[in-house]
Amino acid sequence: RAPVSPPDSLVHALRAAPADRTALTYFDGRITYAALDALTDSVAGHLAARGLERGDRVAILLQNSPQFVLALLGAWKAGASVVPVNPMYKAGEVTHVLRDAEVSALVCSDRAWEAYLRETAADSPVRIVLTTCERDLQTRDDPRVLDFERLPQAPDADDLVTVARQGGKAPEGREPGPSDIALISYTSGTSGTPKGATNTHGNIMYNAERQRTGLGLPDVPVYFALAPLFHITGMVVELAACLNSAGTLVLAYRFEAGVVLDALAEHRPHYTVGPSTAFMALAAHPSVTPGHFTSFHVISSGGAPLPPALVEKFRAGFGPYIRNGYGLTECTAPCASVPPGHEAPVDPASGTLAVGLPGPDTVVRIVDERGQEVPFGEQGEIVVRGPQVVPGYWRRPEATAETFPDGELRTGDIGFMDPQGWLYVVDRKKDMINASGFKVWPREVEDVLYTHPAVREAAVVGVPDGYRGETVKAYISLRPGTEADPDALAAYCRERLAAYKYPRQVEILPDLPKTASGKILRRELRSQARTSR
Ligand code: ATP
Repeated sequence: RAPVSPPDSLVHALRAAPADRTALTYFDGRITYAALDALTDSVAGHLAARGLERGDRVAILLQNSPQFVLALLGAWKAGASVVPVNPMYKAGEVTHVLRDAEVSALVCSDRAWEAYLRETAADSPVRIVLTTCERDLQTRDDPRVLDFERLPQAPDADDLVTVARQGGKAPEGREPGPSDIALISYTSGTSGTPKGATNTHGNIMYNAERQRTGLGLPDVPVYFALAPLFHITGMVVELAACLNSAGTLVLAYRFEAGVVLDALAEHRPHYTVGPSTAFMALAAHPSVTPGHFTSFHVISSGGAPLPPALVEKFRAGFGPYIRNGYGLTECTAPCASVPPGHEAPVDPASGTLAVGLPGPDTVVRIVDERGQEVPFGEQGEIVVRGPQVVPGYWRRPEATAETFPDGELRTGDIGFMDPQGWLYVVDRKKDMINASGFKVWPREVEDVLYTHPAVREAAVVGVPDGYRGETVKAYISLRPGTEADPDALAAYCRERLAAYKYPRQVEILPDLPKTASGKILRRELRSQARTSR
């Protein structure tokens, strides 16, 4: 029987692999499969003893660390659904998620707890808090990280590492099934306020299993976690896929090119996946050599457009071919990718690199405004049906019906397919801005701008950027009799939004262009911003 969930993958791994096989490495430390099982049992037992019930929600705000994995698997063993939250989020962004998902337990660093989460959580349904020591998470050479020494700790929260070491059993009968919600992944979907896509254990295991059988990696693969685990790509294509192969996952806190290169030299991974900007940063680092990449069997890119010039530059300079892949949170990471042994064609007309071929059991169609399929080569909206497509959004029946009519995902991306079945992504119907693979929704930034006393009108758009792909720009008009300069408005957003969301450019206009009915023409501003460069 194939594993039905990541905790079930752990059970399988313990049966199939020697107990001392390394499950995780983190700088100088490692955790074996046997230890991972015991430590996550303790976390699950602790959560259950504190009153966490099956189906309750546990939010995790951590970077790529062993503690993230302990909290995640512990929560799943306790029968909970996990809400991964970007640790870059500011208080207001976290509040929305904690309330909307009705989160009962929160796992975060002690620093974030002290800095703002204690106050944020006070006004939320959170009843159980586990913190972990952020300073030590970031200390490269501190062996205490994996020795699980007692670390300094917030007085009103339990220490995750101590809990994990206490010993204990996971509660009985909480094993998740394939249709249980594993993750509530916040995304704005095609529009509006952030809502939670409900990735089931079945959705995750489908993509994890495809990865195990489809990539031709060694029997005991070493994965390098380049993408963040709080993001669906890191969670599924790195963590769940690696566990499902009883492989070793190399963690390195967060992306920093020099640190990543050191870890590649030390751990010699076979597989990684990240946004194209990560590969640009690695290729540009002064200490990079082709030797850093010789251990790789497969390197994948996803989450943002992959420039064909980067693929060629990387291959010429370092050897590996970067495989493109396409997916969304709503389809639990990839739904199309370039199979090993193939190379993605480039469309001669647009110079766009194909994102891949749809996976087995996955039907990708291109449809027009009326939902009718268009001929090969013609552009339309990309729609996806398959075992990785989520059943819908958390407690949002209307948004679910709109985005998943009849179970088919409307991606909001514009693309076309060639007669060989290769999929190309060329534009977006939705207003999302893609900055280095981080997604920014104009509405969210505009809502913050509108709370500034001098702002009369605000429209936020994406403008092309050589490194990030796109960057955030805000057009503003001011209330009569008020003053505000662009730098002050950008700083105002920076205080209230995750760093990748605040506008890098702010332009003040006397008036913003509007329709006859008074609606701001964001799309017109977007074209204006693109052509005026
Ligand atoms: P992935 O699963 O590929 O990593 P993601 O996890 O970043 O995607 P979201 O944050 O939901 O998921 O963003 C999905 C959006 O990212 C898509 O709708 C599309 O606009 C964009 N995207 C993803 N992959 C590609 C790609 N290979 N080329 C161009 N755009 C892409």
